[in-house]
Amino acid sequence: MSIETILLMLSPIFMIFISYEFIKHGHYYDIKDSLANTALALMHQGADAIALLLLMPFFYWLYGYRLFDIELSALSVFVAFILQDFLYYWFHKASHHIHWLWAAHIVHHSSTKMNFTTAFRQSLMYPIAGMWLFWMPMILLGFDPITVFTVVALNLAYQFFVHTQTVKKLGWFEKVFNTPSHHRVHHAINKGYLDKNFAGVLIIWDKLFGTYAEEEASKPCKYGIIGQLNSNNPLTITFHQWAYLAKTTLNAKGLKAKLKVLFSYPTSAVNHK
Ligand SMILES: [Zn+2]
Ligand SMILES: [Zn+2]
Repeated sequence: MSIETILLMLSPIFMIFISYEFIKHGHYYDIKDSLANTALALMHQGADAIALLLLMPFFYWLYGYRLFDIELSALSVFVAFILQDFLYYWFHKASHHIHWLWAAHIVHHSSTKMNFTTAFRQSLMYPIAGMWLFWMPMILLGFDPITVFTVVALNLAYQFFVHTQTVKKLGWFEKVFNTPSHHRVHHAINKGYLDKNFAGVLIIWDKLFGTYAEEEASKPCKYGIIGQLNSNNPLTITFHQWAYLAKTTLNAKGLKAKLKVLFSYPTSAVNHK
């Protein structure tokens, strides 16, 4: 089953949650913002489907060099899920610390709104930025590419549900799992909240590696990116940081300086207009 099929099958559930939130808590929504999110989701899904189709022969070639033969079982799927969630943490952390990856990931953060449709706000540039590279260790270990991309899809599907302001705190669940509260912090630019809570499904990785921050009632989340983009144009949202990255890389003198621009901590495109 491909990522697209899994997410497509879940889309009626997504729609029910969005409708409920929109009717009950309409003030969390801006129609133009949600329409942009939907357009970005379709662009992202299209690019992802094409990339997966093109890269599958490479994934199976790599699978030929696997270290172990891992048979499909409830246990191996469970291990795959945990391992992929661990790799997701590093992918997500890298996406905030490396300009090249941030150019794609910024799309997801560039809204000042936070509701279930924010989960749809994704970049079609992920396959080019190389998100898939982060799952390659699993294929080399011996997980079948289909299993790997199925758990990737399940992880992303879970994350739909953490994009909301309607759920406050969830008791013991907060200790182990990524929750709306933890993920609101991730989308916030307040001091102490920025670049925190990179979790996909399990929040334990943030607690283990020192990137955890608790949502405090006295510090309401301010959503978006430093400088704020202020655009609902899907093309501007997708490409503005890439254009800025290309320009600053070209302007940097010498290969070392260019590589530094590409792979060090991102600077803000919107602050440089
Ligand atoms: Zn992020
Ligand atoms: Zn998010």
